[in-house]
Amino acid sequence: MTIYLDYNATSPLRPEVKNTMLEVMGNPMNPSSIHSYGREARSIIERARRSILSSLNAEGARIIFVSSGTEANHLALKGIKNITTVVSAIEHASVIKANNNSVIIPVDNNGVVKLDALQNILASIDGKALVSVMLANNETGVIQPVKEIVEITYAHGDYLHTDAVQGVGKFNINFNDLNVDMMTISSHKCGGPQGIAALIIKKGLELEPMLRGGGQEYGIRAGTENVSAIHGFALALEMAIKEARDTSFITFMRDKLENELEIFNPVIFGIKAKRLGNTSYIEMPGVDAETQVVAFDLDGIAVSSGSACTSGKIEASHVLKAMGVESSSAVRVSLGWNTKEKDIKAFVDSWKKIYRRVNQQEARAA
Ligand code: PLP
Repeated sequence: MTIYLDYNATSPLRPEVKNTMLEVMGNPMNPSSIHSYGREARSIIERARRSILSSLNAEGARIIFVSSGTEANHLALKGIKNITTVVSAIEHASVIKANNNSVIIPVDNNGVVKLDALQNILASIDGKALVSVMLANNETGVIQPVKEIVEITYAHGDYLHTDAVQGVGKFNINFNDLNVDMMTISSHKCGGPQGIAALIIKKGLELEPMLRGGGQEYGIRAGTENVSAIHGFALALEMAIKEARDTSFITFMRDKLENELEIFNPVIFGIKAKRLGNTSYIEMPGVDAETQVVAFDLDGIAVSSGSACTSGKIEASHVLKAMGVESSSAVRVSLGWNTKEKDIKAFVDSWKKIYRRVNQQEARAA
């Protein structure tokens, strides 16, 4: 069995979630139908909506179910007309590419958004802006100062969206306390099914429809709802949020991994900043990321290069570039709900083996 250490890419489906989805999957569930199946479907969706809002302390807000975190980010960035979008340099591609002309906020060497730069950018914009900064970065795990960003943004009378896809289930998130206008969450990053996500919108904020048609999701996102996925998403989120109350064991395993490799002096990106407890973005000196990912795979361990992988080719990481780092030897390890201590030991053993093999080959060739 492959050891899975790539939870930031996608997380294995929780067995409880799979079972609960199977219970509703067989029925003809169109929530817009008036018959009993339709009514049952509607009540499943409304229950899931209430459950997700309550899990995230977002009572009073509106939740729009969509197909992916990518779609939720697009809805947030395109849903308000006549605004300038301002996004950080380390956002997920679905935020950076949502608008071609977004203004980019730089980050420091630790991968944290520069607040003074944000101040200056907002001061220079005529009219309203929408700021989008993620809660935590998918590559480094670095947690962003969203509360401070909210304060700066609101002081300028602008809007704030946060992409919380990597934050959900990894630390406590309280939507009402964070006080953001919009927040993206995605089911498959916290043990739920793929193909379902949501944008949570503060009460009173109206968005332009993304898809027009049957009027589903308050007319903002038409299309028959994915009932079983929504049902599974709510349970996965509830479970992940409970686990997020105590992340000490995951953090202990991640720290153990990093400590065991310390003798090799690897650079760990973002280590000086506040990070998610499950993520380590670690460089193996002298071995490029692609070689590492393949070698780990041959050893039965799934990790990723952290940066975008397009058509099987690993591109340089825009996150590392934004941090002022030139590196092609970083691999991202991300732990999750089913990670065991023995998985970490296997990874560390494999890491040392690959490091020694590649470096010895190079020494022989020299
Ligand atoms: N935002 C972040 C921070 C992500 O890590 C990802 C996926 O990797 C997304 C958005 C996109 O989410 P989805 O895969 O649900 O489209």
